[in-house]
Amino acid sequence: MLIVQKFGGSSLADANKITNVAKRVAETYRQGNQIVVVLSAQGDTTDKLLEKAREINPNPSKRELDMLLSTGEQQSIALISMALQGLGLSCVSFTGPQVGIHTSSTYGSARIRSIDTERVNNELERNNIVIVAGFQGVNRFGDITTLGRGGSDTTAVALAAVLQADLCEIYTDVEGVYTADPRVVKNAHKIDVISYDEMLDLASLGAKVLATRSVEMAKKYRVQLVVRSSMSNAEGTLVKEDVKVESTYVSGLAIDKDVASISVMGIRNVPGMAYKIFSLLSKEKILVDIILQSIGRDKKKDISFTINIGDLPKAMELLKNNQDNLGFEDVTYDDKIAKISVVGAGMATHSGVASMLFEALYSARINIMMISTSEIKISVLIDERDTDAAANYVHEKFFAVPAR
Ligand code: ADP
Ligand code: ASP
Ligand code: MG
Repeated sequence: MLIVQKFGGSSLADANKITNVAKRVAETYRQGNQIVVVLSAQGDTTDKLLEKAREINPNPSKRELDMLLSTGEQQSIALISMALQGLGLSCVSFTGPQVGIHTSSTYGSARIRSIDTERVNNELERNNIVIVAGFQGVNRFGDITTLGRGGSDTTAVALAAVLQADLCEIYTDVEGVYTADPRVVKNAHKIDVISYDEMLDLASLGAKVLATRSVEMAKKYRVQLVVRSSMSNAEGTLVKEDVKVESTYVSGLAIDKDVASISVMGIRNVPGMAYKIFSLLSKEKILVDIILQSIGRDKKKDISFTINIGDLPKAMELLKNNQDNLGFEDVTYDDKIAKISVVGAGMATHSGVASMLFEALYSARINIMMISTSEIKISVLIDERDTDAAANYVHEKFFAVPAR
């Protein structure tokens, strides 16, 4: 079999863990498989590198940031290769540019456009284990790009797709995909099989266990994806096409702390104001999520909306710089909030999901700041300090009986 094995940062945090990963790879290799290993940066290296950059310049250029961040993954691939060589195995490490992972030119959130398979295939034919740095590629200028946080998952799935691998295994620090983040919700249970669509909803609403784009790609190319622990031999979660087992109407709960809200106040109550505000943000590729507009009074209205916390400085700067020509009275932000979402395709045909969610929050005396609903999810914004209590109460309400 051809297997792509991806190991996340926590699985590589120190020398011992690197050795363990090498042993796991060696075992799979010795069973007669061909292996491509994709690695993240060790532990919290990426966060440390970001801090380092900001100590020097609070607003560094995205190109230089990618130059810096990509070094984390490069360290990991060299170290694992050394560990594998120490076990007597022959392997070869490659950065993203070296294997030919071609991306768009948007530094910091580049998209994979194509992957050259020749070099990897040649090495596999020579019975070498191929080690690839995750999270990075090269753009048309020949510059290093990164794929956005969690992007090593995307590298792994993309490689599995182009190499037509039999399996893509994502090794992490939990035993699979759970009904909620098991570090926050103590009664969360592991899901054995989940559909691409359900996983996509959970990932895009904040469940970090898989990067959203990796799931999109797995769905598009029908990659067999397994999420499992690098510290145990437990079976993990299989992510695949439609799951035929009896499924519940709610698949899980997603928590997103990386959100911030902005309130633009005292906007003239005339046509075109929302367009002007949001086009300003979209030109800078700032994604807006929940939007709330107040009822106009005294010829004025307020608009509040949420964005990713990473975009907050840029969004505030844009709005402040345009306050005069947009003609609003004030703009404020709140970065101490969290979004909790209940997710599930079956919700469309079940009434009462929203009221169950609100009841759970009420029973925990938690205030709701904003609400957004669609056919497949309901999200609420709450004070960040209420996250753990909210997640546990809401989970209890929906999953008191084992889901599957
Ligand atoms: P890695 O370094 O292996 O890429 P991540 O930190 O990116 O690991 O993702 C794993 C983490 O995702 C877990 O430690 C867990 O806290 C979090 N997580 C959030 N939601 C879920 C979920 N529904 N199921 C499993 N893990 C989740
Ligand atoms: N090291 C990168 C990050 O921390 C990529 C990854 O871990 O997938 O986001
Ligand atoms: Mg990750």
